[in-house]
Amino acid sequence: MMQLAQPLNFIGFVYREIKQALVDMETMYSLLRVEQEVTDPPGAPALKVSGGRVAFECVGFGYSPDRPILKDVTFAIEPGQTVAVVGSSGAGKSTLSRLLFRFYDVDEGAVRLDGQDIRDVSQTSLRAAIGIVPQDTVLFNDTLAYNIAYGRPEATRAEIEEAARIASLDAFVESLPQRYETTVGERGLKLSGGEKQRVAIARMVLKRPAIIVFDEATSALDSKTEQEILAALRAVSQGRTTLVIAHRLSTIVDADEIVVLDAGRIAERGTHNELLARDRLYAAMWRRQAEGAELNGQRVVAEEAS
Ligand code: ADP
Ligand code: MG
Repeated sequence: MMQLAQPLNFIGFVYREIKQALVDMETMYSLLRVEQEVTDPPGAPALKVSGGRVAFECVGFGYSPDRPILKDVTFAIEPGQTVAVVGSSGAGKSTLSRLLFRFYDVDEGAVRLDGQDIRDVSQTSLRAAIGIVPQDTVLFNDTLAYNIAYGRPEATRAEIEEAARIASLDAFVESLPQRYETTVGERGLKLSGGEKQRVAIARMVLKRPAIIVFDEATSALDSKTEQEILAALRAVSQGRTTLVIAHRLSTIVDADEIVVLDAGRIAERGTHNELLARDRLYAAMWRRQAEGAELNGQRVVAEEAS
């Protein structure tokens, strides 16, 4: 029996690991990552969060040595402020969030949180301080209540409902016959991209991290859903350090700073108005999206008229 105990423990461990991985992209990333690429230094202390200042300092990074992705990236998010990163697909935006969460270590420079190099603190404490709403949230085959409370399983029903309300998810849940007991995920009710993102935001409300990373969904959401998600994000990012990776520029006009990434380098930075006045990359992106929105608007008007 003693001989059997060890393997059974191990199977239990693996099962718990897989179960976590299924529910949470953050965990999934860390499991898929090359083993031991990122390790805690011996006796690594816990991160001490004071204000929640995030700093990328001369960061260079590539997934493989022969192909650098980020080059000399320097910017900071002051406590409670919002910085948006924009740029074309493949520019390295999501890579920034992976480095902040320390799925990978930088090749050059450093990422600091309240002055501490994130390589010097325990990964557990680092990840407890950061909440990510990824581009595509993976849900566990379980109830909505379970999926929202994931990360804080001891949350009461009242807390779960409050989180859903802040995430603008409550009206949707109320429309389901089994409400919070509805099974979701692959074998249950399939949620739309926008609904899944709002589940992730509700999760974040319960987790209450000092730092929030929002990687906007790439697929176009209808404007009502977009507005709901934006309102939810504003509510949860209030007073928290926020990094928004944005595809739709309309979502970030209020950001304290906008960083434009082009092929892994910062090409320009400033507020929305400053960047429009500069009349270069950002201004061109803004005009393109404005034209796209106008065309969509005309299509809606045309459909309604017909
Ligand atoms: P963005 O979010 O701006 O669209 P990413 O940061 O996801 O871009 O990716 C930047 C570049 O890094 C892309 O060329 C992408 O193909 C590459 N990349 C992303 N993830 C990996 C990975 N796990 N391994 C190798 N290359 C990757
Ligand atoms: Mg991305």
